[in-house]
Amino acid sequence: MRLILSHNYRYCKSRGYNTLFVCGTDEYGTATETKAIEEKCTPQELCDKYYKLHSEVYDWFEIGFDIFGRTPTRQQTEIAQDIFTKLNKNGYLEERVTTQPYCETHGSFLADRFVEGECPLCGYEDARGDQCDKCGKLLDPLELIKPRCKLDGATPVPKETRHVFLRLDKLEDKVKEWSKESSKKGAWSNNGISITESWLAEGLKPRAITRDLKWGTAIPLEGYENKVLYVWFDACIGYVSITANYTEDWAKWWHNPEDVSLYQFMGKDNVPFHTVVFPCSQIGTGDKWTKLHHLSTTEYLNYEKGKFSKSRGIGVFGSSAKLTGIPADVWRYYLLSHRPESSDTEFEWDGFIAANNNELLKNFGNFVNRIVKFVNSPVYDSIVPDGSKHTESADGLLALHKKEVNEGLTHFLHDMEAVKIRQGLSRALHLSYLGNRLLQHNKLDNALAKEDPVRCAAVVSLALSHIHLLAAVFAPFMPATSRAILTQLNAEPLVLPDTWTADTIKPGHKIGQAAYLFSQIKPEKEQEWREMFGGDEAKKAKLEKEAKAAARKAEKAAKKLKKAGDSDHHETDGKSGGSVEKKSAEADLKSDPAIQKIADGVQQVSLQTS
Ligand SMILES: [Zn+2]
Ligand SMILES: [Zn+2]
Repeated sequence: MRLILSHNYRYCKSRGYNTLFVCGTDEYGTATETKAIEEKCTPQELCDKYYKLHSEVYDWFEIGFDIFGRTPTRQQTEIAQDIFTKLNKNGYLEERVTTQPYCETHGSFLADRFVEGECPLCGYEDARGDQCDKCGKLLDPLELIKPRCKLDGATPVPKETRHVFLRLDKLEDKVKEWSKESSKKGAWSNNGISITESWLAEGLKPRAITRDLKWGTAIPLEGYENKVLYVWFDACIGYVSITANYTEDWAKWWHNPEDVSLYQFMGKDNVPFHTVVFPCSQIGTGDKWTKLHHLSTTEYLNYEKGKFSKSRGIGVFGSSAKLTGIPADVWRYYLLSHRPESSDTEFEWDGFIAANNNELLKNFGNFVNRIVKFVNSPVYDSIVPDGSKHTESADGLLALHKKEVNEGLTHFLHDMEAVKIRQGLSRALHLSYLGNRLLQHNKLDNALAKEDPVRCAAVVSLALSHIHLLAAVFAPFMPATSRAILTQLNAEPLVLPDTWTADTIKPGHKIGQAAYLFSQIKPEKEQEWREMFGGDEAKKAKLEKEAKAAARKAEKAAKKLKKAGDSDHHETDGKSGGSVEKKSAEADLKSDPAIQKIADGVQQVSLQTS
């Protein structure tokens, strides 16, 4: 499962924009139907289970969707059928007869990857119907030698079937024109642009939008009672129908291109469906649609110089992040500071720990704690002093501070508007650094309070307003931390301003009590987590090492004991018991919910009125 974190939405809310944040699971399709057969339940039951797991993960990470919806709804059927009917009326649909593998044993047509067999090129015995994993050849399932149904091993037979094709070729010119304009205006990410361009450069071909399945949106066409809409035609319509599940006024968002901007966030593998197939469906209806404005697509996040692998249990996944005991905000911080916006990035435990201990605790946490504690002290007894009596001294330190914070804020706002989330976060951290510097430059301590109370009051009042600003600046990234700061300040959230006035925490206001925002992570955790999430191979190596060490120790002990004339092997038994305990811990992790296929369908969309 990929972690999909979008913070532009919280940013929009903290700027006071009218924004809607929609996400959901697209639940229809072959993979669901087949998995349900495997798990001996109905597709509905399967989807209910995974939907719940997804929701829990997102709740834990505090992904603040306005609605986290699903595709099997009445609204989905209505809207998808309406789009289908209009495409048909406008001449963009066409029926074609195709030949597909059919399994007579479980009575169903088979999607390409549910047929396995021998590769006609290299002879590999477990080639999939769409591609051979050994030699990489792209395959047609009917080309496989000795093909078999992945589910029951029966030999599929070729069978003719009728399907509806979307004439993407007839919509090509229009979608090209639109994407050229939108990608420029909305400043799509580079990989989003290049993937779209390479798809368009190949020329668009008609694409089947129906499937021989039961689990899907019904097709409003005679003779198609036993077929459903193809999941990728259907899935993007989910954004619209999930909005319709949220509000009856969904058309004000989706049929309002003048006033609404559509921002979409996804991994790069899903680009063409959002930049070509869905826009083609929209254009083909002839209706006025809100179409993609900004596309934010990421590259891959790697795990410790390798790849995350759900099947091999390598890497830390959404559902197991909380097992580390580290708060979601720290995860959010680390993952966003490593968001693969322009190239692949690495997840590394030592970096994760360093980010918490140095960037968060020493920089951000220290600044907030130092100032709040100081105001809590008998010097002020938690009452905000009046900083206005201070006239700027020759060093101009306070005026300079205000100026630099405002420059930093301008950069921050600029990056966030452009959805450069990673850069925005590093700007936020810089603002926190400036706060620490303020306290250092002015040597804030009891001596200053005694010797120059007027200046001390000015520094304190400025610093309190500064952390009020930080609560707003960090809110998109670390909502719980932001709330904690507001509690300590006993203040309402600040709407992110264009210019920081530095006077939002008023004299005479009583603040709350200081509390640590972050806590130290011990360096030995690195090794512990690496083993915990290292997957079978690493685990195996570790267990082998342990076993060897234990054996060596046992040998030594045996020799010693032999010398001493004793043959008790108690110590060695104790060691192997430790390994068994760790083994069962690993089993727990592996039985941790495998959120698979449906996760691939989870994308995010955020709409805002301009
Ligand atoms: Zn079968
Ligand atoms: Zn092959």
